Amino acid sequence: MKKYRSFTLKQYSWSLDEANGKIRIGQKWYRYFKSRNIEGKVKTVTVKCDLLGDIYVYLCCDIQCEAVKFRSGKSVGLDFGLKKFLTASDGNDIESPDFFALNAKYISTAHRKISRKKIGSGNFERARLELSRAYKKLTNQRKDFHFKLAHILCSEYAVICLEDLNVKAMLKRWGRKIQSLGFSYFVKILLYEAEKFGTRIIFIDRFYPSSQTCSECGYKNKAVKNLNVREWDCPKCKAHHDRDRNAAKNILRVGMATLLQENQCLMARLATRHQ
Ligand SMILES: [Zn+2]
Repeated sequence: MKKYRSFTLKQYSWSLDEANGKIRIGQKWYRYFKSRNIEGKVKTVTVKCDLLGDIYVYLCCDIQCEAVKFRSGKSVGLDFGLKKFLTASDGNDIESPDFFALNAKYISTAHRKISRKKIGSGNFERARLELSRAYKKLTNQRKDFHFKLAHILCSEYAVICLEDLNVKAMLKRWGRKIQSLGFSYFVKILLYEAEKFGTRIIFIDRFYPSSQTCSECGYKNKAVKNLNVREWDCPKCKAHHDRDRNAAKNILRVGMATLLQENQCLMARLATRHQ
């Protein structure tokens, strides 16, 4: 199995005995533990083996599902950050969970251990497994955190506005650290959850200066470009701003304007069609 890592089974080379929790691969039957119920018609079966030697069977199924219509309700603007995972325009911020920092320590210890071992030795193999286990734990915890958060956000809000950050822009903003927080991965999960809830996700242009614009009067304050400025007063309207909260408010405002524009275009198209 280790030789392959991953392979997809051809038709008839597998069969499923759901009642007894067994799957036949080739000539042999294997027991399995399911992570969720199998729905619909199984299309493909892929077998994967991770670095720890755990084996996973992925069933890709065809399910009939109805498209969920967009619903109405509360809207929010969200700004990604390092200290706070998300700053919300309405104050419902999400802190970064502690396990990221805890695991980083564990992982660096595991790396140090492996570097002292002789490659190919039994001790090396044990250290390698320990390192893989540490990474796997972190990945699982992060995934769990992302799914739970996406679920909460999509059930709470009908419209969520975000900055359309690409990886390059994020690296420029925060450096290497973003990799441990996996924002782009979170956005993917958020889009997936939003479809189930009928929540609209709106991305605003990443070149819009959301941090520098005063959310009260629209004045653009170049001094806020400096990332060390955490709080500032608007020179024009004298409003006091928290950097991230102000950005989140702008993201919401621009996002809602984008949505309105989209709807107007749609209405105009429908009107011409009926003429
Ligand atoms: Zn202002």
